[in-house]
Amino acid sequence: MEFVFRDPFIETLRREVLVELQLKRLQLDVLQPVLEGNDFYRRKLISAGVEHWWDIQTREDLQNLPFTNKAELSEDQVSNPRFGSNLTYPEEKYIRLHQTSGTTGEPLLWLDTRESWDWWARCWATVYRAAGVTPQDRIFFAFSFGPFIGFWSAYEGARKMNSLAIPGGGMSSYQRAKSIIANEISVLVCTPTYALHLAEVAEEEGLDIAKSNVRISIHAGEPGASLPGTKRRIEDAWGARCYDHVGATEVGAWGFECQASSGVHVNEGEFICEVIDPETEQPADEGELVITNLGRAGMPLIRYRTGDRVKANAEPCACGRSFLRFEGGVIGRIDGALNVRGINIFPSAIENIIRRFPEIGEFAVNVRTLRSLDEMGIEIELKSGDPDELTAAVVKGMRDGVGLRVTVQSVPVGTLPRFDMKAKRFTDHRKFS
Ligand SMILES: [Zn+2]
Repeated sequence: MEFVFRDPFIETLRREVLVELQLKRLQLDVLQPVLEGNDFYRRKLISAGVEHWWDIQTREDLQNLPFTNKAELSEDQVSNPRFGSNLTYPEEKYIRLHQTSGTTGEPLLWLDTRESWDWWARCWATVYRAAGVTPQDRIFFAFSFGPFIGFWSAYEGARKMNSLAIPGGGMSSYQRAKSIIANEISVLVCTPTYALHLAEVAEEEGLDIAKSNVRISIHAGEPGASLPGTKRRIEDAWGARCYDHVGATEVGAWGFECQASSGVHVNEGEFICEVIDPETEQPADEGELVITNLGRAGMPLIRYRTGDRVKANAEPCACGRSFLRFEGGVIGRIDGALNVRGINIFPSAIENIIRRFPEIGEFAVNVRTLRSLDEMGIEIELKSGDPDELTAAVVKGMRDGVGLRVTVQSVPVGTLPRFDMKAKRFTDHRKFS
């Protein structure tokens, strides 16, 4: 297989040279303007003894800088309305405003300049090229185009690619499926959950989506596309290769899957990443991802604790990129593991087990305390098959896969909620005191 790159030079650089290049960009593209105009980071940098951009010369120097966390950014926006003090330029320099979906608290507001919006598009072009997207492709965005950054940046990235972009906002799932077929779409961009839902709707309406022109699908917003079970189901439903992508409103589009399908690469041409043990805050192979972006001086992040759990793989990738990769993409949230009867379980592990059964459509997981014991209950919607057999198979799958006894109940199709952005399938009803 021939692997494609957006920038073969940067993407295959020797790691020592890559680190040098990152530090140069950190100094000149981030620290220099930030120390001049950004109150939030000037305070933090000066408190760490950094007054000039040349005070940071090595990776070790960077590791001596304080972390940034989300709570701190939220507080800053409350005390310095409306956008906070993490702004490097006067407000008229900014051309885009987005907000986080606020799944973990108050939404954060984030601004981009013309330059940083262009940087987003470039990062997305790296995602597209790694998946083999070309200017001949037609890209459909099954996305609501609301205030969240979602796939707005992906839409902008399509322009960088010279591909034809078709927005799918304000449409029903049936209309989207019809548009994908009628416009001979070859690349689908949406969340993994929505890709499965859209395929379900198409099937109900008698549209053969697996025979459509879609050859590549790119997913973000949830970890699904890196879970082997979910990936296979999306690929079967669409008859296409499925790729994972990771990014965040406040961080940027930092990760992508290459055609070797061996985890998620960090775009180290545009981001410096560190993995730390969340307790000791020391470097680790598996732990929390800490990220510094290099192309967003207007509203930057330096050593940002993403809360994402990742596992680094330093082995060279078959694609030839020297960029670091994470096995299984983002494995979960640092605080997202459910502790049930002393067992730490990531929601993604449960999803992966349930997705092995093509008969199961939507599902929901509830953890409750019953007679002072933790109980995990799983509701499944069956599209076909024998309910008794399948519930027993899921019970067995959970016991073998995560070592937990669960109760499984089959419910009528259409009972459980559907999601088009971030799915909420896991509910913890326990009260902790
Ligand atoms: Zn690769």
